[in-house]
Amino acid sequence: YTQAKSLVFSKFGEPSDVLHLHTHSISPTLPDGAVLLRALAVPVNPSDVNTIQGTYGVKPSFSPLLGTPEPSAIPGNEGCFEVVAVGPHVKTLRRGDWAIPATTGFGTFRTHAVAPDADRTVLPIHDTAGLTPAQVATVSVNPCSAYRMLRDYVDLIGQSVAAYSRDPSTPGGAWFLQNGANSGVGRAAIQLGALWGLRSINVVRERATPEATDALKAELTALGATVVLTEAEFLDRAFTTRLRDEFTRGGRDPLLLGLNCVGGKSASAVVKALSPKGVMVTYGGMSRQSFPFPTGPLIFKRLRFEGFWLSEWSKENPAEKKKTIEEIVELMRQGKFQAAPVQEVKWDWETDEKTLQEAVQGTLEGFRSGKGLFVF
Ligand code: NDP
Repeated sequence: YTQAKSLVFSKFGEPSDVLHLHTHSISPTLPDGAVLLRALAVPVNPSDVNTIQGTYGVKPSFSPLLGTPEPSAIPGNEGCFEVVAVGPHVKTLRRGDWAIPATTGFGTFRTHAVAPDADRTVLPIHDTAGLTPAQVATVSVNPCSAYRMLRDYVDLIGQSVAAYSRDPSTPGGAWFLQNGANSGVGRAAIQLGALWGLRSINVVRERATPEATDALKAELTALGATVVLTEAEFLDRAFTTRLRDEFTRGGRDPLLLGLNCVGGKSASAVVKALSPKGVMVTYGGMSRQSFPFPTGPLIFKRLRFEGFWLSEWSKENPAEKKKTIEEIVELMRQGKFQAAPVQEVKWDWETDEKTLQEAVQGTLEGFRSGKGLFVF
């Protein structure tokens, strides 16, 4: 029998109140199509906390199968696992492969997992050379979301090519604008955009000192950001003039895509900056503030407002999801794509419940040096 530990919750609430560490054993006899996985690295994303709080778009079902006193669920949507045993009918995985859950909702906050129907429920990585568990653990949510949002709403790459063929003096690719640019999604969008020849305007929150703000701007610029602004600079009246004169050649280079991670005033400023027929894609609400749909711009600029939700997109497009992940993993292997910074939390047999609870609870605090990552 394999001894395993999982973080579980039986009711919604703050992670420090409702998360518990549950110990159980896993039978050595695997169902035919299943694999036994051992966790290597598992990140804590904002949506995991929202799921535990009960405020997320999908509620987990609490199950008696885990053997907890009350029916419970395991949070966590992504991670990097190692395949340690393979059921007799499994075709796509071998012992020693790394594996990523194919869809969200897998329940990754655990040391071990039995994945039933493994050919469909997990994606294998046979050749792990050049990859780290931390990279692989964080590829399927943030980079995948950034990739789809940059590609599925406006054909920015096509726009870049068309602009260049009309006017070879065009200085660079098509623009996009994003707030929350220091988030995992934001950093991924910066890098993918740069790899695809796009230009980006990136909005971040000011740090405690001007030096720290400059250091953050320099870091994002090194990742491939064209312009990095603080929220204050973005919300300032002068931004409209800068956008027109400094960045878009008097408005000749349109701004057709805005990615909204934050909501509130920042989202309204994204709307204001968009060119006619531009699209704002909202995927997060980190400020917990809503924003008005302004009537004038909506009509006269004929704007589009879209919402992106990776979970639903993945369910509707499983093959595309797999391809997107494989493409980004390949970029990582080639050293062309850096994972977002993480704060590692060691999870071994001795780690107590409180340490793990706190690692989850701290996720929404902001101004962090990196996303929480359980390493095993
Ligand atoms: P990270 O944990 O990597 O980063 C969180 C970011 O949010 C930080 O950059 C932080 O800024 C910023 N932030 C926190 N509080 C505020 C605030 N009050 N105002 C402005 N910014 C704030 O986040 P992820 O990249 O994992 O996720 C970012 C958002 O995207 C979340 O809302 C998440 O739920 C959502 N998301 C949605 C997906 C979807 O399918 N719709 C998929 C993936 C993510 P700072 O650096 O200044 O601390």
